[in-house]
Amino acid sequence: MIYLDHAAATPLDSRVKNAMEPFLADQFFNPSSPYLPAKKVKEAYEDAKNRIAHTIGAKGNDIVITAGATEANNLAFNLDYEGIAIRNTNLKKYPRIAVLATEHDSVRGLSPDVCDVDFIKVDNNGRIVLKDLERKIHSETVLVSVALANNETGVVQPLSEIAAIIKNTREKRLKRGSNVPIFLHSDASQALSLIDISVARLGVDMMTINSAKICGPKGVGALYVSHDVLSFLKPIVSGGGQENGLRAGTENVPGVIGFAKAAELAKNHAATNRRKYTDYCEMFREILRDCKVKPIFLSGRKKLANFCSVSFPGIDAERIIYMLEDQEIYLSTGAACAASKGQKSRTLQAMGLKDDEIAGSLRISFGPTNDAQQIRTAARKIVEAVESEYNRIHGE
Ligand code: PLP
Repeated sequence: MIYLDHAAATPLDSRVKNAMEPFLADQFFNPSSPYLPAKKVKEAYEDAKNRIAHTIGAKGNDIVITAGATEANNLAFNLDYEGIAIRNTNLKKYPRIAVLATEHDSVRGLSPDVCDVDFIKVDNNGRIVLKDLERKIHSETVLVSVALANNETGVVQPLSEIAAIIKNTREKRLKRGSNVPIFLHSDASQALSLIDISVARLGVDMMTINSAKICGPKGVGALYVSHDVLSFLKPIVSGGGQENGLRAGTENVPGVIGFAKAAELAKNHAATNRRKYTDYCEMFREILRDCKVKPIFLSGRKKLANFCSVSFPGIDAERIIYMLEDQEIYLSTGAACAASKGQKSRTLQAMGLKDDEIAGSLRISFGPTNDAQQIRTAARKIVEAVESEYNRIHGE
C-alpha cells in the first residue's frame, strides 16, 4: 500500500508503543492512589507531561492533558465570558471571538452561546489577511484563534505577527483604561511534527497539540495555557480535580507516556523530515506537472513540508480516490472528517477556489510510511487516473 494521508492519521511508532507497554500492563495504578507503586506511576506521568511541555518550550504545569485536539480546542474556547462581561465595565456588549475562516471544524464550529464570532479572511494562498484581522478585532474581542498550520493545505500562518497585533491591541486598551482581556489561541495539531515550536517565540496564550498526528497514540492531546489565561478558563469536564481542576478524570497514563515519546521523536527528527518531505514534494509536483490536466498546487511556499495538496479542475477528485484505492493508494479530499460528510471544503472556499477547482482537489500528506519510490509511483498513478478520467469525460 501507499499511504498519503498522514494528515488524517499516523501509525504508532514502535518506540512509542514500547514506551507505553509497561503502563498498559504492570504499571496500571491510579496516579491519585496513596501507595508507593501508584506514586511511581504519578511520577512517570508528571515526567511525561514535563517532556511534552518541553517540546514546545513550556513546563508540565502549563499544559492540560485532554482526550485529543478537539477537546483541547473546546477547552480553549471555554473562557468565562459572562465573568468577563460582568467584571469589565468598559464592555458595552457581550464578548466576541475572532476565528480564521480556514480553521478545523473543532475550532470553526465553536460559538459559545454568549459570543458573536467574526471570521478572519485568508488570501488566495490560504494566508491570513492581517488587515482583516485588525478590522475584526473589536473592543469586545477577547479571543482570537488561528491554527499554526492548516489541516487541508498545510499552509503555515505568521503567528508572531498575529501575536504582535494582539499585544498592540492590549496596550491600546490599557491606555484607554480598558481592562478587557484579549488572548491568542493556536491549533498546532498538524505542525508539531515539522515545526520547531516555542510558545514564547510564537507569542500564543493557548496552544493545542495532538499526539495522533505525530505517530503517538490517538485520543490524547494537550492545551498549553499561559498564566495570564488561567483565571479566565473554565473546565469542560469536572469531577476529581485532576489537571489542576481544568480536566477531571483518571489520567490516561499510557497515552501520555506515548505522547511524550512521540513528541520527543518528532522534535529530534523534524529538520531531517523537513528536508526529506521537501524533496518528495518537488519530485511529486514534477511528475504531476506533466499531466494533460494542468494541476493547481494549493499552497504557496509557507506550508508544512509534508503537504502536497493539488487540484485538477474539471475532474471529480472522489472518482480519482476510488480509482487509486483499487491499487491500494490511499489519499483524501479535504479534511478526512469533512470528506466523509460529503461537504465542500470550507478552507478551499475561503481561499477563493472555484467550484470545479474544489471538486478536483486532493489532499496529499507524506509521512514516515513513505519512501521516494512510493512518491514517484503514486504521482504516476495519479496522473494516469486523472488522464483516464479526463478521456472518459471528453470521449477521447
Ligand atoms: N485540529 C486539527 C488542525 C486537526 O487536523 C485535527 C484532526 O484532524 C483536529 C484538530 C482534531 O483532532 P482529534 O480528532 O485528534 O481530536
